[in-house]
Formats: sequence, structure tokens, C-alpha cells
Amino acid sequence: MERTLVILKPCTIERGLIGEIISRFEKKGLKLAGMKMTWLTDELLSEHYAHLKEKSFFQRVKDAMRVCPVIVCCWEGLDAVEVVRAMAGKTNGRLAAPGTIRGDYSMSVQENIVHASDSLETAEIELKRFFKEEEIFDYTPSYIWSLYANDEI
Ligand code: UDP
Ligand code: MG
Repeated sequence: MERTLVILKPCTIERGLIGEIISRFEKKGLKLAGMKMTWLTDELLSEHYAHLKEKSFFQRVKDAMRVCPVIVCCWEGLDAVEVVRAMAGKTNGRLAAPGTIRGDYSMSVQENIVHASDSLETAEIELKRFFKEEEIFDYTPSYIWSLYANDEI
């Protein structure tokens, strides 16, 4: 099973969409392995968005993540990284396909509802960045065999 990081961005908290977005991942069949509300620091965001550090909008993107606390989640499932990225949709909410989270709830590139890890390698690094080891939980939901065939997991 893979684990991936999702951050509900400040726009999501402010617009009252927390339940709506979490509900999508739950309904898909992903398992919540960790979740907390936290106020991010500029230092942590500089690390998290290091791939954007040469961009003119680097500071703007970081500041947008500090408008209010965010909710960080760890979702678990088979191919969870790819599944969650597909559910998030394209970065630009205006171009993201209807049916995706960004496609359904965002009109912006920056204010695009969620962060989602883009590879398994990134997910491992990002989960360590936002969670302590004891904040990620191992458990097996009783409905696991309604989600997967026994040769899938
Ligand atoms: N972003 C932006 N303008 C851009 C590119 C990115 O405001 O031209 C923001 C946007 O919020 C995006 C985040 O920076 O989600 C991280 O960018 P990345 O390219 O990693 O996109 P993502 O992986 O979130 O789709
Ligand atoms: Mg990214």
C-alpha cells in the first residue's frame, strides 16, 4: 500500500470545503492514516516549494499557504499517489477537468484547493516533512475486502 500527502490549502479552509474534500477521498476508498491542523512556517514552505524558488511567484505561493492554518492528511491505498493526483486534477483549476477536485472547486492556479504529492519518492519525503512518525497510524478497516480483491493486496 502506498501513502501520500494531501494538504487542504487555506482557500479550502476559508471556503468551508474541508468536509467536502475529505469526503471525496473517503468515498473513493482511500484510508485516512493521519490528519492534523497546522499553521505552516515560511521556512517549511521554502523547503516544500523549493522547486519553485526561481519563480517570480515563489513568495506569493508561500504566503497564500499561511493565510490561515491548513489541514495535512496522509491517505493510504493501492497506487495512492497516482490515484490522488488524478483526483486533484491539473494545477490550474480553470483547466482541470470537471469531476476532479480542482476542476470542480477552483478557478485559479494558486488557489487550487489541495496539494498532492507527485511521486512515491516525493510522498515519502513530504510525509516526513509534515508528520512525526507517531502521527501516522497503522490499522486495517473492516471493509478492506469490499475495496480490493484478495490478489490485489
Ligand atoms: N503555482 C502558482 N502558479 C504557477 C505554478 C504553481 O501559483 O504558475 C502554485 C499552485 O498553488 C501549485 C503550487 O504552486 O499548486 C505548486 O506548484 P506545482 O507545479 O508543484 O503544482 P501542483 O503539483 O500543485 O499541481
Ligand atoms: Mg507539485
